[in-house]
Formats: sequence, structure tokens, C-alpha cells
Amino acid sequence: MAQSWRKKPNILVTGTPGTGKTTMSSALAEATQLRHVNVGELVRQKNLHDGWDQEFDCYVINEDLVCDELEDMMEEGGVIVDYHGCDFFPERWFDRVVVLQTDNTVLYDRLARRGYTGAKLSNNVECEIFQTILEEAKSSYAEDIVVSTKSDTVEDITRNVAELADWVSSWQPTSM
Ligand code: ADP
Ligand code: MN
Repeated sequence: MAQSWRKKPNILVTGTPGTGKTTMSSALAEATQLRHVNVGELVRQKNLHDGWDQEFDCYVINEDLVCDELEDMMEEGGVIVDYHGCDFFPERWFDRVVVLQTDNTVLYDRLARRGYTGAKLSNNVECEIFQTILEEAKSSYAEDIVVSTKSDTVEDITRNVAELADWVSSWQPTSM
């Protein structure tokens, strides 16, 4: 369903690490006055994980704890959720799911600059090549709320923010 009773919509910004989720989400939050929640940061701050994964060099996120932490806020609406996965959030939370996509070579350079090497670097570039997150989004949410968009350049960010801000400002809650 494309519309909900929420006074302000909830948006999920997802995509492979390095595609620009946090950069885009914070610009969008500024443009719309919606609240930006960086899930990775929240997990670290509130210890919503089950320890460190040595192999993948990241926290093992505790999905139940994350969902419990976010529930009230999501119910209220007006939240931009920023995370590189999307299959464990309740489907009803989101009015729009935005999947950012980046050219492989551009992404490789961004992740290398971020200090990623070896398997962590190649796994993430592969994730982008195989459109893993887009597939995950399509299998988790209604077709008409999932949109994928290019995030290669600063102009792409500007365009994506402008389009989404327009969509937010035309939001009308549906009575149910
Ligand atoms: P994510 O949150 O998806 O991991 P970030 O927002 O942290 O990605 O961006 C990763 C790096 O790439 C940052 O240095 C950011 O400035 C840069 N970046 C992100 N999106 C773009 C873009 N569309 N054009 C140019 N640089 C970008
Ligand atoms: Mn990020």
C-alpha cells in the first residue's frame, strides 16, 4: 500500500556500504525535517548486537533488539532509516524504500578510501554487482514502494534529495 495513516512518512534508505546512504539521508533530513536514524551507529551506541564477527569484521546485529528500539518512533512516523540491509524490518514501517546504486569502480574506490581491504572490499563490491540489496528490497516490500536510484556523483545526491523532499512534502495521510 502506497499511503498510510502516518502524519509523516517513513523512508528506508538502503544499499551496499559506500553507496551514500548516510550522506544522502542526512541531507534529506535537513531538507525535510524528518529524523535520520543511522542503524549502524544506533547498534554501536546502544549495544544492539551479539558481539563482533571476526570473519566479516563487523558487529553481529541483533535484529530483534533493533526493531524493539525503533518501534515507537516508526509508529509515530517521519523517520529516515539508513541501513545496508532491509529484510528484517517490519514491512508496515515503510512508505518508501530507496535503494542507492553505485558504479562498481566508483564504489571500489570509495570503500578502499574508507580503509576496506581484502574480502571485506571484494564482498561489498560483489554485493553491488549482483544487486543483492535491490533483490532483498524487492522481495521484502511491495513493488510500488521500492525505488532504485543512481548514487555515483554529488549531482546524484542533489537530485535524489530534491525528488524525495518533493515526495515528502506532498505526503497525505490516508484515514483508516
Ligand atoms: P554509506 O552510508 O552508504 O556507507 P556514505 O554516505 O558514508 O555511504 O558515503 C561513503 C563515501 O562516499 C563518503 O566519503 C561520501 O562522501 C562519498 N559519497 C557518497 N555518495 C556519493 C555520491 N553520490 N557522489 C560522490 N561521493 C559520494
Ligand atoms: Mn553509512
